[in-house]
Amino acid sequence: MAQKILVIEDEPTLARLLSYNLSQEGYHTKVVDHGGDGLQEAIQQSYDLIILDIMLPGLNGFEVLAKLRQKGNSTPVIILTARNAEDEVVQGLKHGADDYITKPFGVAELLARVSAVLRRTMSEDVTVDKQGTNEKVIQAGELYIYPEKYEVVLNGESIPLRPKEFEVLLYLVQRPGVVVTRDDLMNIVWGFDYIGGQRTVDVHVSSLRKKLEMNQQSVQIDSIRGVGYKLVASIIKK
Ligand code: CA
Repeated sequence: MAQKILVIEDEPTLARLLSYNLSQEGYHTKVVDHGGDGLQEAIQQSYDLIILDIMLPGLNGFEVLAKLRQKGNSTPVIILTARNAEDEVVQGLKHGADDYITKPFGVAELLARVSAVLRRTMSEDVTVDKQGTNEKVIQAGELYIYPEKYEVVLNGESIPLRPKEFEVLLYLVQRPGVVVTRDDLMNIVWGFDYIGGQRTVDVHVSSLRKKLEMNQQSVQIDSIRGVGYKLVASIIKK
């Protein structure tokens, strides 16, 4: 069954571009051009993903997101942020967005982000933590990742990671045993228009690897020469 995507965007050209390209990929899309109407639609219907602009008539994107989450709706949301507006990204993630795309963006980036968020949310489990609150957690062996808190726990110990290291690990952990190319990591974590080069990926993976492997080597990142990386998690029996 086709996955359903709600696009909340008031700029007609951009809305058409989004809707056209997502439909071409086989997603069912609906466009709403008003914040309040978008919120109603998101609550009344069931969507697999919402693409949400920030500057909207009626409620702005942050308000839509906040109200959606207040109502217990956990549909994944990708926000569309303005270039050089890091505060929008921070605000958006704080309000419960799953990812963001900076305008202007290319179709390839859009589709990569959409499919990454859909894959990620499908592989997540919700567990009940000690405080009894529902929280997303992704597990590989003794490694637990809490995407909402940017927290990583390995063998019971919290591992301090920089944001990009966290995102690299999150991407690898959703594909255990699968070789992920440097290009994939580059595009997903740094974005398609990033010009830092693949060396940046290697530096982050190397530092991430040190932090993980200090901890009993139950999780390791293997290098696949000339291609990329693979996460291997061994299950330690207690
Ligand atoms: Ca707008």
